[in-house]
Amino acid sequence: MDKRAVDVAIIGAGTAGMVAYQRVRKVTDKVVLIEGAQYGTTCARVGCMPSKLLIAAADNAHQMRLGDLFGVSAGGMNIDGRRVMERVRSERDRFVASVIRSVEKFPEEHRLKGNARFIGSHRLAVGGDLEVQAERIIIATGSRPSVPGFLKSAKDRLVVNDDIFEWQDLPDSVAVFGPGVIGLELGQALSRLGVRVRMFGVGGAVGPIQDDTIREYALQTFREAFPLDPDSEVKKVERVDAGVAISFVDGSAGEKTETFDYLLAATGRRSNVDGLDIQNADIELDDGGLPLFDPHTLRCGQSHIFIAGDANNSLPLLHEAADEGRIAGDNAASYPEVRVGLRRTPLAVVFTDPQIATVGLTIKQVEERCRGCFAVGEVSFEDQGRSRVIGKNRGLLRVYGEQGSGIFLGAEMFGPAAEHMAHLLAWSVQQRLTVSEILEMPFYHPVIEEGLRTALKDLNRKLNIGPVPEEGCTDCGPGV
Ligand SMILES: Cc1cc2nc3c(=O)[nH]c(=O)nc-3n(C[C@H](O)[C@H](O)[C@H](O)COP(=O)(O)OP(=O)(O)OC[C@H]3O[C@@H](n4cnc5c(N)ncnc54)[C@H](O)[C@@H]3O)c2cc1C
Repeated sequence: MDKRAVDVAIIGAGTAGMVAYQRVRKVTDKVVLIEGAQYGTTCARVGCMPSKLLIAAADNAHQMRLGDLFGVSAGGMNIDGRRVMERVRSERDRFVASVIRSVEKFPEEHRLKGNARFIGSHRLAVGGDLEVQAERIIIATGSRPSVPGFLKSAKDRLVVNDDIFEWQDLPDSVAVFGPGVIGLELGQALSRLGVRVRMFGVGGAVGPIQDDTIREYALQTFREAFPLDPDSEVKKVERVDAGVAISFVDGSAGEKTETFDYLLAATGRRSNVDGLDIQNADIELDDGGLPLFDPHTLRCGQSHIFIAGDANNSLPLLHEAADEGRIAGDNAASYPEVRVGLRRTPLAVVFTDPQIATVGLTIKQVEERCRGCFAVGEVSFEDQGRSRVIGKNRGLLRVYGEQGSGIFLGAEMFGPAAEHMAHLLAWSVQQRLTVSEILEMPFYHPVIEEGLRTALKDLNRKLNIGPVPEEGCTDCGPGV
């Protein structure tokens, strides 16, 4: 077996691994980035980018259907599934190619191909014929779809997100298991592209929504387009000639069997740490076999091993993977000096329509931390000026503030332009602004952000801080 000694070995050339590599590289040339499968990252290949491409097609179809509302029609609508999927794949391929070009700029001697696994706390076997001895190691192995055993009865009709983006055409029908972020995004997009969709969940969750008022509102909205039972009772999944037959309890209608072309399992993701022979790394593991680590330094216990990105199963989002790669990379480079890295305000967006966004503290965290000393402001977008103008007047925003200090703590939203409003709100939380200070900022007219201002005014009124709000609307139109 060939042997190689380095200062830092990074396992996994995804987003976290590539960022970590660039940070380590500033300090040492004795670094390797090990990739077991393909370059290109989960985000570009099967994650953020292709999912948003499919959603973009669906949004266009939806917008055309809305034409009637404005008295505008482009004639008969036609969804060409082959062309939809062609664009998804070709744009996806451009994103992947661009990532690959970046990796290929890393010196060849720094890039190792092969699956890595621990054979000692400082030793990795890579593929079948190389041993890497590393002073420090960064685990950045990402995650993969996790599929419960009973769904496997769907056999060749069982698909995960990775498979969808390889489809040459759109199917007629899909049963989606898991109304989480991925299930909602892909399920709603398929439904809007004319695919018959039914969604099954367990436990009642709808995406990442924690605020019951918003969850209920979102659930009702999704249900207007396709059946969604977030706490379903599925009796049987069976591969039949026509596809996959699913027997389930359909509320008061009782047991029912429906057949679909495919079953999409969007039932969560699991860390790829299980392929690493992690027991040989001599670090403490939790009950699920994942390394215990400090989220501020990414260090596993007191060891020379760091873990970043989806692999640590903590914040499975692209910008968090990049941040964690930076922190782990800096610390592996400066080890044994290990420093706390910048962790930003929590921010997550789901690209459904309306979009879902969560910012800062969740309502449950606010309840725990403030023990009654908080208030909630709210706005509905149903009558919000700009939202009505563009025919997107659906949704709810709830904002949370601390009594006494007036500090803005967090927000949850299901509504128009949530991806943009969430940024304003996350920046405000990170700046530790009070609700009054946010209200001192300029707001143009007519914009969706005026709805945000209404929610913040409602919050300030309940916090009893700031000038007494004037009665009636101070802006030009109603419902801003
Ligand atoms: C459908 C979908 C949609 C998403 N949408 C969004 C979104 O809109 N916004 C957002 O912020 N996030 C989104 N995400 C999440 C985001 O894609 C991930 O959080 C992010 O890509 C994780 O990056 P990573 O570096 O941790 O892992 P990856 O990019 O998966 O990299 C891990 C790498 O490690 C390699 N590897 C694994 N084991 C080994 C081994 N033993 N040896 C060598 N190499 C190994 C893998 O082959 C892989 O290349 C989405 C994810 C999915 C699936």
